[in-house]
Amino acid sequence: MTAPTPEGALGQAALAGVHCLRIPTPFAVGRVNCYLIEDEPLTLVDTGPNSGKALDELESQLAERGHSIDELELLIVTHQHIDHLGLAEIVVQRSGAEVAALGAAAQRLANFDEDAEAEDRFAIELMLRNGIPEEVTVALRSVSRSFRAWGSRVTVTKPLADGEEIRFRDRTLQAIHRPGHSPSDTVFWDAERRILLAADHLIAHISSNPLLARPLDGSDERPQALVTYIDSMLKTREMPAEIVLSGHGEPIVDHVALIDDRIAKHHRRKEKVHGLIAEQPRTGYEIAQAMWGNVAVTQAFLTLSEVIGHADLLVNEGRVREVEDGEVVRYEATG
Ligand SMILES: [Zn+2]
Repeated sequence: MTAPTPEGALGQAALAGVHCLRIPTPFAVGRVNCYLIEDEPLTLVDTGPNSGKALDELESQLAERGHSIDELELLIVTHQHIDHLGLAEIVVQRSGAEVAALGAAAQRLANFDEDAEAEDRFAIELMLRNGIPEEVTVALRSVSRSFRAWGSRVTVTKPLADGEEIRFRDRTLQAIHRPGHSPSDTVFWDAERRILLAADHLIAHISSNPLLARPLDGSDERPQALVTYIDSMLKTREMPAEIVLSGHGEPIVDHVALIDDRIAKHHRRKEKVHGLIAEQPRTGYEIAQAMWGNVAVTQAFLTLSEVIGHADLLVNEGRVREVEDGEVVRYEATG
């Protein structure tokens, strides 16, 4: 069987009752892909952000398929990011739908506001420790607070274990934890049809950022997001998927090639980071500035996440070490 084109893949998914709803977001990423699964239970995978515009579009795109929000019986939440779950509370209020998500993330999803606050504190501490000036962290914190209104708390009524199956009338989806882009990333696998609902674990047109975030268990330890993400990608690489339906952009029809490409890109970037550190010891912020100039200021947390991710790989390989210098930490080459 020849691999479908991305457009053909959407058609193939639709024939299997899985319909892509493209819901607008106010974020740079553009629209988010939610999926309607026409089965029993009638299911929505992700909701889009908490905005009137997103709600209108969700309603009208459901109506195009002859459905309404109050008919939904199950809401699946793929991960903790607000562009994916912001309308969850409204959808549940209107429909009474059950909510399935990774059990390990349930507490965080239920305490959205406190959790967002704790996430901000974690990010600020990390930024200061890696040399980002305080005024930049203050600016980012206010941006982050202004984004919070697009999120929502979510009460998970069907907490999923890693590997657990959700049974529908016509299909079974296996929930598989694939952390990296976020700690709660969960993909949903239809082994019979070889369709993987991957959300932001894999996106065709952009590299999913392995954003630094607090561990799901609430511990203070900083996770190695990129290390975890590469490990997750290698596991997905082994899956015999024919179609990967993403949280943004077009479906992926050759996930092995995409993953190989992403891992090669991370390898090149890691070498670039190593080169900068070998020249002279630098903070994460100095590395980000050397790589991206002013973007390291405007997108300070994102670029710092990238730098630390690659530095983690180098630390694990024994080629770089972290050296405490008062309040900040610098990376220096070993040997
Ligand atoms: Zn995301």
